[in-house]
Amino acid sequence: MSDNDTTPTRTRKPLGLKRSVDAGEVRQTFSHGRTNKVAVEVKRRRKLTKPGAAPEEATPAAAPEPAPAPAAAPAPAPTPAPAPAPAPAASRPAPAPARNIPSDETPQERVARLQREAEDERMRLSEEARRREEEARQQQLEDEKRRAEENRRAEEEAAKAREAAEKVAVEAPSQQAPAEEEQPAAAAAQEEETSSASTVPAPRRFTPVARPEPKRAEKKREERKPAAPQPASRGDRADKRRSGKLTVTKALNEDEGRRARSLAALKRAREKERRSYGDGQSKQRDKQVRDVIVPEAITVQELANRMAEKGADLVKALFNMGMMVTVNQTIDQDTAELLVEEFGHNIQRVSESDADIDTSNEVDAEETLKPRPPVVTIMGHVDHGKTSLLDALRGTDVVKGEAGGITQHIGAYQITTNGGDKVTFLDTPGHAAFTEMRARGANVTDVVVLVVAADDGIMPQTIEAINHTKAAGVPMIVAITKSDKPEANPKRIRERLLEHEVVVEEMSGDVQDVEVSAKTGAGLDDLIDKILLQAELLELKARPDRDAEATVIEAQLDKGRGPVATVLVNRGTLKRGDTFVVGTESGRVRALIDDKGNQIKEAGPSMPVEVLGLGGVPRAGDQLTVVENEQRAREAAEYRQEKATEKRTAMAPANLDAMFAGLKSDVIEFPLVVKADVQGSVEAITNALHNLSNDEIKVRVLHSGVGAITESDVTLAAASKAPIVGFNVRPNAKARQLIERDKVRMMYYDVIYHLTEEIAKEMAGELGPLRVENVVGRAEVKQVFPAGKKDKAAGLLVLEGVIRKGLHARLTRQDVIVSATTIASLRRFKDDVDEVRTGLECGVVLADTNDIKPGDNLEVFEVTEQERTL
Ligand code: GDP
Repeated sequence: MSDNDTTPTRTRKPLGLKRSVDAGEVRQTFSHGRTNKVAVEVKRRRKLTKPGAAPEEATPAAAPEPAPAPAAAPAPAPTPAPAPAPAPAASRPAPAPARNIPSDETPQERVARLQREAEDERMRLSEEARRREEEARQQQLEDEKRRAEENRRAEEEAAKAREAAEKVAVEAPSQQAPAEEEQPAAAAAQEEETSSASTVPAPRRFTPVARPEPKRAEKKREERKPAAPQPASRGDRADKRRSGKLTVTKALNEDEGRRARSLAALKRAREKERRSYGDGQSKQRDKQVRDVIVPEAITVQELANRMAEKGADLVKALFNMGMMVTVNQTIDQDTAELLVEEFGHNIQRVSESDADIDTSNEVDAEETLKPRPPVVTIMGHVDHGKTSLLDALRGTDVVKGEAGGITQHIGAYQITTNGGDKVTFLDTPGHAAFTEMRARGANVTDVVVLVVAADDGIMPQTIEAINHTKAAGVPMIVAITKSDKPEANPKRIRERLLEHEVVVEEMSGDVQDVEVSAKTGAGLDDLIDKILLQAELLELKARPDRDAEATVIEAQLDKGRGPVATVLVNRGTLKRGDTFVVGTESGRVRALIDDKGNQIKEAGPSMPVEVLGLGGVPRAGDQLTVVENEQRAREAAEYRQEKATEKRTAMAPANLDAMFAGLKSDVIEFPLVVKADVQGSVEAITNALHNLSNDEIKVRVLHSGVGAITESDVTLAAASKAPIVGFNVRPNAKARQLIERDKVRMMYYDVIYHLTEEIAKEMAGELGPLRVENVVGRAEVKQVFPAGKKDKAAGLLVLEGVIRKGLHARLTRQDVIVSATTIASLRRFKDDVDEVRTGLECGVVLADTNDIKPGDNLEVFEVTEQERTL
């Protein structure tokens, strides 16, 4: 019974079993002092099938036969080594003892022997591995790979051997535990390694502690890279195999060392992760290879997002390639491809046509085309009566008034004639807008009506208009206006037109002409008839039943409604709810409003319509294209934005060069930043300013745009020592601070003429005293209430400074000026007061305006005149 005496010692501890003196009984000890007595029986049948000698011959690998289930308690394994780290065994009651306990020695011995053999084999292999490891340390990196392979194989064998023992242990689980415990600490570590990192555990396992860390990490990477996927799966398999068989042992082991081990394992795992991140190498074991869609140009950050990598890693990789870029910079497709490959992903190149949306080349089948109304632009010299004519023509609309809507100036309007024909007029007279649009490829005009005042004659802008029309190849109709005037001389006009190769019908030419009067309405119908005749000749057609394409005529940031654009539908039908991309913006049609102010559901070809629901303010001339879904719209808009950014950054150095060149040359430059409330105004202002330039002094518009004056406008102006022209717009709060700090000169106007006049004077050096505005207070409109019969008063909270009666005031809504006025009356608690200071509330009545809304801001300022010093 000496065997029995020793073995239980080993088995007992981990399993909590106590064998009674009686061979037929086993006493189990559980936690909390519970014990249990179990009767044991011997299974002889098994022994008969497998003679005792058989297992002895069996190599560990051959062990997995159905060995006679030896009981836990009497596990004999005679190996002398005691468990090195016996666990608090009571934590789990061993289920095995309930099973068969052989009184026979053979299976026990067999198990013990198998375990011994397995252990020996393991030790041998460990030794071998250790030796190899030592050798390998001296070798080159290439050798390392091979060694790893061998080690792995050795590990596999060891695992197999161990497995063999474990298989037996499944049937004699109680013995497995001591067998496991008998392993030297290194082997235990090995077990951990195998289960946690099955890839290349062998070299690491035996790595001496003194070995330099980074080197090892490097080698490890070297080893891992080529063999990455395979060993992982192999290791996984081994793991699975073991986990299937090792239930009890594993459980015990885990119970024993869970805390310590899991901490260590966790640390290792973290370390591993950290290293793999830190080296920027992406060929990790569980690396997910992605198909990365790359357009012709992409920002580094966007590429990083698409690759699911860190932007910083990409920047680093680019740096290593010799490119210094930031995450926000745009790189081309070829560079992107290098990066994508570097990070182990697949590139999917998309061309501009994939990323962008351009339907302009799509041709609609002839049979789908339907006649569409002509689009007319009116051009001519200033004061020759363009606006009057447009208004008069609008007055001929038979639909006018029927809808009950109010007349809106949305940049274009459509009239319906007595005969039911429709004509669309662009409401932005002048060749500047026409040319601007054409410069952007938006040739929306079908017919030009050239206005020449019968009492005046051919003027410079008349000639310009003729040239622009000819350049655009658009047919022209001459309207000789103001024919009602007594001094009108249409004949002379016709003759003078010949000088500019405009031969009107009356002079046997082919250009239609008509005498009109906006005042009396004479000739208007004739003009419309001629337009319709011209349209007929042009055979204007478009397909109405398709996704709409439209051109932006005007766009602005509306107080309260957000970005609004008036578009002219070129083809298709624009419907409410349509998703679209327009310029660099995307959006969804929230509402469509016609030129009479009616909400409509859809707009067909040649119909001008105001669109709400844009993501931002597009530019006049931008194309609006309806697309299938929002994502596509966003993609296209983003792509266009990238392109625009690219263009800007590409142009920046050129601009700077030009700026320096300008400084050096004799021509004096007059730099300006222009911000206005509407795109139309921006264009009108910049054109007007350019026209002021002469050989000695030139206006340079550094930047122009729609909307509030922002910080970037101020910084640009400050850097160039340029004044900012604000046309019906004001700076936002942040910009205001910068203006004050950088002492940027602001020029606010609400009449273009005043602006050009003042700048022209300034340029000519014949300037009067400087008009200086000094803002003395700011307030917010909290509420609005009626005052008197017609007027409205505003309940204000003074935010800054003071508000004084009689001072100038500007009312702004989202930084757009609503009205420029004065403080007509100022009250505090029903008492008239002269001034109200910060933090106090008051009521004001503003002179000449009742357009006040809660949330508006009031800016109160004094105006002083100063001697100008240049
Ligand atoms: P625009 O600068 O070309 O837009 O010209 P306007 O439409 O503002 O007209 C300039 C001036 O001419 C205004 O004072 C109009 O009243 C006047 N005017 C325009 N059309 C006619 C017309 O047919 N007959 C007369 N008598 N005056 C006109």
